[in-house]
Amino acid sequence: MRDPILLTPGPLTTTLATKSAMLHDWGSWDEDFNRLTAKVRAKLLAIVDADERYVCVPLQGSGTFAVEAAIGTLLPKQGKLLCLANGAYGKRIAQLTEVMGRRVTVIDFGESAPVDPAAVAQALARDPEITHVALVYCETGTGILNPLDAIAAVVAAAGKKLILDAMSAFGGLPLALATLPVEAVIASSNKCLEGVPGMAFILVQKDALENAEGRAHSLSLDLHAQWKYMERTGQWRFTPPTHIVAALDSALDQYEQEGGQPARLARYRDNCQALIAGLEQLGLRPYLPAELQAPIIVTVHAPQHPNWNFQEFYRLTKAHGVIIYPGKLTVVETFRVGCIGAIGQAEMAMAIDTIARALRAMDIPC
Ligand SMILES: *Cc1c(COP(=O)(O)O)cnc(C)c1O
Repeated sequence: MRDPILLTPGPLTTTLATKSAMLHDWGSWDEDFNRLTAKVRAKLLAIVDADERYVCVPLQGSGTFAVEAAIGTLLPKQGKLLCLANGAYGKRIAQLTEVMGRRVTVIDFGESAPVDPAAVAQALARDPEITHVALVYCETGTGILNPLDAIAAVVAAAGKKLILDAMSAFGGLPLALATLPVEAVIASSNKCLEGVPGMAFILVQKDALENAEGRAHSLSLDLHAQWKYMERTGQWRFTPPTHIVAALDSALDQYEQEGGQPARLARYRDNCQALIAGLEQLGLRPYLPAELQAPIIVTVHAPQHPNWNFQEFYRLTKAHGVIIYPGKLTVVETFRVGCIGAIGQAEMAMAIDTIARALRAMDIPC
């Protein structure tokens, strides 16, 4: 029996090779494991053309841990963050900044519009106290794609620093640090890189990190301390997620073999197109217009039918081997279907078939 297909934004379906890479135990002090860590860090920098201005700092935990570490380490205590929000993950950045007691101001673009670079320019001109800007590249709450290059240009022109949550984009969408003005990029093992969950990483400008000693609000989420310790010893500062690092190392080899970012994007685009075409044939409508849709996760309007019940729909699709996600929108009833992971056209066809069967079982016409 095969595991259900995870059509979610992570954890997601991984290959057998990635899972098999976890069938060993490593000591956290062992030099073989230290070499593995060094290899993974170098590969992550290479994927996005990061030059010697950048270092890669891996961190235990889910993606949010790394976002919290990046903000807590890079935003000075007297600094102020402009948070550009158009969904759940943008709002989370504002929330975690508030929790650590740093100053943050939010522009909320709603849930169906991209971040507007002109509004960012205005906000930066109005408030000179802003030092940093936080942006989510692909807002996974809806699947919306934000205009990264235009926003980065506006932030750089104003002399501010950009912190990019590229969690659901890294490895899938274009990203080139050699030319993009960004202080830090945050991502995790378990999205477009198709690793398993439990570690994240920050690609950060060395200068910014050098200046951040003693600034973090947290002992374990201190990026500067994690980096310095790793540079000195080759080891992680606290117990490393050994199996996850090994799985990511394998996943990164497979990423290269597939053809890197362009090949992965092409596969995800094909997945997304097949998914949307199939859903539309069932009479289901995507929430976002095509030009705003990133090929990562698709938010779908729930059927306007009295029999609709997400829990029941979930139970039925799971029984047929497909795991989908609830919507993350506050006002509209939706569900989400992911296009990422070690999946292709066969899995997309299976997903459409499964969704159709579930709707019919619920007596919802499709
Ligand atoms: C997945 C994700 C995160 C991190 O979420 P975790 O549940 O902590 O892994 C942050 N931002 C975006 C845009 C994401 O897609």
